[in-house]
Amino acid sequence: MRSVEPEVFLVARPELDYDELARYLREIGGETWLERLERGEFDAQNLAEFAGRLCYRSFEPGLNANVTRIRKDQDAYLRNILASAHGSVLEHISFSFVLHNVSRVFTHELIRHRPGVAISQESLRYVRLSEIPFWFPEWAKEDRELMKRATALLDQLEEFQTWMAEHFHLDDEGVPFHEKKHRTSFMRRFAPEGVATGLVWTANVRTLRHTIEARTAAGAEEEIRLVFGRIGEIMKEEAPALFGDYVVEDGAWVPGWRKV
Ligand SMILES: Cc1cc2nc3c(=O)[nH]c(=O)nc-3n(C[C@H](O)[C@H](O)[C@H](O)COP(=O)(O)OP(=O)(O)OC[C@H]3O[C@@H](n4cnc5c(N)ncnc54)[C@H](O)[C@@H]3O)c2cc1C
Repeated sequence: MRSVEPEVFLVARPELDYDELARYLREIGGETWLERLERGEFDAQNLAEFAGRLCYRSFEPGLNANVTRIRKDQDAYLRNILASAHGSVLEHISFSFVLHNVSRVFTHELIRHRPGVAISQESLRYVRLSEIPFWFPEWAKEDRELMKRATALLDQLEEFQTWMAEHFHLDDEGVPFHEKKHRTSFMRRFAPEGVATGLVWTANVRTLRHTIEARTAAGAEEEIRLVFGRIGEIMKEEAPALFGDYVVEDGAWVPGWRKV
């Protein structure tokens, strides 16, 4: 048994092509919006603002005869997007995370969130468990008797994995991969649900807002609360105007605007 901690890596974020934006805006006469924009640091916010303004052609007053005034401040503009639940513009903005050393308890719950996500999970049919990585919350670590018994049990399961690999001769010369896969899939049945694994999880901002709220709620499971608290902190740094309305109370992220 190897004791591990769940970790979050943000591996991809949106990047705007400002030349292409300029080319489009020249077409409709909205280039001055681009001149006002701060480039680079908050591309996620810029993309949300762009998508929102395209809907009403509100890059400048007068481009749409019905629009005589526009909000020039990005924070105020995006606050209004959230407040009015104009959520579709948030679906253009995706972030990709590696969620590392998370359990299958965690991944079972995560995959219940369906719209706006992409998932690639480590295959324990292909990847043989030569050890059992496992996360213990702090309160469990402080319970010596619990830890003694839990560690002994996990060590025994780990030893059984090694025994099965030898018993099935998986490392012998010439064992075909389909045979290894068949046996490895059988062997994973003896891993606990708490075994630490990993996945790439991509979600758009609309989905992120919903899942951060749902999975940090007081009633949510402690590992998923931990991970989504971290994702919430990352998103607040990445796009403060899109995640700045949350109030964090005892680890629960409560949004100012729900169901955006
Ligand atoms: C504290 C907690 C305890 C839970 N306990 C259990 C449990 O005991 N057993 C269990 O099976 N599950 C349980 N769940 C999972 C829960 O039922 C949901 O499946 C999960 O939280 C996914 O969230 P969501 O329903 O908001 O859907 P998401 O997939 O995150 O979708 C986001 C939103 O899109 C809309 N939407 C998505 N799909 C549809 C659809 N098909 N039709 C209409 N609208 C849709 C809904 O408005 C939804 O809220 C629990 C979840 C939490 C947070």
